[in-house]
Amino acid sequence: MQKVRGILIGRMQPVHNGHMQVINKILEEVDEIIIGIGSAQLSHEQKDPFTAGERIVMISQALAEAEVDPSRYYIIPMQDINFNAIWVSHVRMMTPPFSIVYSGNSLVKQLFSEEGFEVRQPPLYDRMHLSGTEVRRRIVNDENWQELVPDAAAEFISEIRGDERIKNLSVKELSEL
Ligand code: NAD
Repeated sequence: MQKVRGILIGRMQPVHNGHMQVINKILEEVDEIIIGIGSAQLSHEQKDPFTAGERIVMISQALAEAEVDPSRYYIIPMQDINFNAIWVSHVRMMTPPFSIVYSGNSLVKQLFSEEGFEVRQPPLYDRMHLSGTEVRRRIVNDENWQELVPDAAAEFISEIRGDERIKNLSVKELSEL
């Protein structure tokens, strides 16, 4: 029987517990999920500190920790392109065929629905705290950021000294103001 596949595209800077809950929710609805690592070309910037490769490790280790069956997901880095009108074709070229798009991002929803895809808005979990912006803010301010991300992702971020990187980037960008 043909598999139903859904796609979730996010910058995941870094992956947090909201992403993990939404991935689990999507897996209740589809056979396989494609996790697109958005803005894959960006790294070492305050809003985008981690490379696509680092984000792949964070997410795969977090999924392993959550005991998600590896045959049910694909993790695919996706570079931005300058042309919104052909972005959906670009995404399709890089991914296994899919029929359902999951996103809370209004531009992503707009572009896919114009191309005839079924777009579903996943529930937002504790958006006040579960956002990449809040994780990065807590890192800069020496607050408890670890509680917002899967343990495996927190370990990996510490291992690559990602917290130091985020702090250095914030000092550098402030000094350039
Ligand atoms: P993100 O990591 O902020 O969020 C990704 C998804 O995760 C969201 O849509 C939302 O559904 C889910 N999520 C986040 N926090 C959650 C929470 N607390 N609870 C539940 N779900 C939660 O990433 P984003 O900014 O939406 O990523 C979109 C990507 O698409 C970007 O990389 C963007 O550059 C790319 N894009 C590129 C083009 C182009 O190249 N022309 C066009 C459109 C979008």
